[in-house]
Amino acid sequence: MSLISLLPVGEIDRALLVPLAEGLAQRLRAACSIESAAFSADFAFNAARRQYHSTEILKKLLEGRATDDGRVLAVTELDLYIPVLTFVFGEAHLGNGRAIVSTHRLHQEFYGLPAHPALLAERLLKESLHELGHTYGLRHCADYRCVMSSSNAVERVDLKEAEFCPNCRMVVDPHRS
Ligand SMILES: [Zn+2]
Ligand SMILES: [Zn+2]
Repeated sequence: MSLISLLPVGEIDRALLVPLAEGLAQRLRAACSIESAAFSADFAFNAARRQYHSTEILKKLLEGRATDDGRVLAVTELDLYIPVLTFVFGEAHLGNGRAIVSTHRLHQEFYGLPAHPALLAERLLKESLHELGHTYGLRHCADYRCVMSSSNAVERVDLKEAEFCPNCRMVVDPHRS
């Protein structure tokens, strides 16, 4: 069974992490634990953009940890970016087991709408499955319902399902018949 550690980055509501760990464990047939120590991302802050550079955070996650002791998904409330884009929901390195996901733009409040905790949890699960899917070597999927389809806006996140299509599922879980 594969191992996934959820690593809180910065301040995060832990009530979000417990159902996320359960959803990931079930869909990826993995053991999923939540790390108790939080990780500071202050070093990745860009003062001009008032956002955090996700690639820098991922780089730091590779230091001092063996990649063979499982996958690490960093989870943060911070707003993430990469230089060529306005923002990212998350980022992953293909094949090295490290990924990060942000709740920042998954909140309804970000769009001036009332809070919707169940919708937030669903979006966070989808984006977490997506980024972890990349760590299994998956690229973006043309099936818009598949969790590996790319999302550049929250509407696209809502359109897809919190599941892999049969082709993508074969890659993350080759033993399921
Ligand atoms: Zn992606
Ligand atoms: Zn797919």
